[in-house]
Amino acid sequence: MKGLLRTLVALSFYPVSLIANYLRPGVRILMFHRVDSLPHFDQLTVSPGRFSQQMDILARSYRVISLTQALTELANGKVKRNTVVITFDDGYLDNLTHALPMMEERGLPASVFVTTEFASGAQQHPRYGSSARLHMNWGEVKEWLRFPGNEVGAHSRSHPYLQRVSDEQCREEIAGCMADMAAAGVAHNGIFCYPSGDVTEREAHRVRASGYVAAVTVAPGVNFPTTNRFWLHRTEVTDRDTPLLFRLKLAGCFDLIHGVLHVRRTRQFSKQSQVEKELKGVNH
Ligand SMILES: [Zn+2]
Repeated sequence: MKGLLRTLVALSFYPVSLIANYLRPGVRILMFHRVDSLPHFDQLTVSPGRFSQQMDILARSYRVISLTQALTELANGKVKRNTVVITFDDGYLDNLTHALPMMEERGLPASVFVTTEFASGAQQHPRYGSSARLHMNWGEVKEWLRFPGNEVGAHSRSHPYLQRVSDEQCREEIAGCMADMAAAGVAHNGIFCYPSGDVTEREAHRVRASGYVAAVTVAPGVNFPTTNRFWLHRTEVTDRDTPLLFRLKLAGCFDLIHGVLHVRRTRQFSKQSQVEKELKGVNH
């Protein structure tokens, strides 16, 4: 019921979104995590069948470019209509085994944001508690880069909530990630992705000071030449995005609803982080 209501609200935004896209086009950066068949719904996993439908729509009706090219076009103030960028977070092995063949077939490039301790095998993303290997190793990350337009970006060393760590740890996680990739011989695009989208002024400043050229968040919406390069917006794609919902999402019909939800979540998270920091201060 809730889903139907959201769809109807999104549909009502469609005419306005079409006009907005025509008058002021922006770059929409899509955010994926895993592409796999899981026995239950997972917010971060799109099934291969659904992913294939979504890639068909992108290949047919959109202009998909690399993240670096998108940054150049934004910097030059030359944004073309229907421009989309595909990104994946955490460096899951299924990006290489399931997603890449489907994108390669359709000529669609994408960026993967790698957490270096996942790639080195020191740890896995705790969300899935899997004993099987979940992430690409360094050799596989290099394989990912073989497809023209594919890029690798940085996603910290150990995937912490950056807002909750000390200044020194924050520096380590951000600058260290770049150093780890250089040590592994991986050419990265110099773009950072805040783990769990957790970012305040401190993290954005640290990313810039560490030599990155841009950073992506989980704040919804499109990007314009005026958008802050270290607070780029992204649009999350899920397995529930049927062809109709995916098209509405690409048109920006969900941006307002998702924007309101995002502000609410961010406020709650910041409050929790503050309480945690204060408790730590009491204990130490
Ligand atoms: Zn992540």
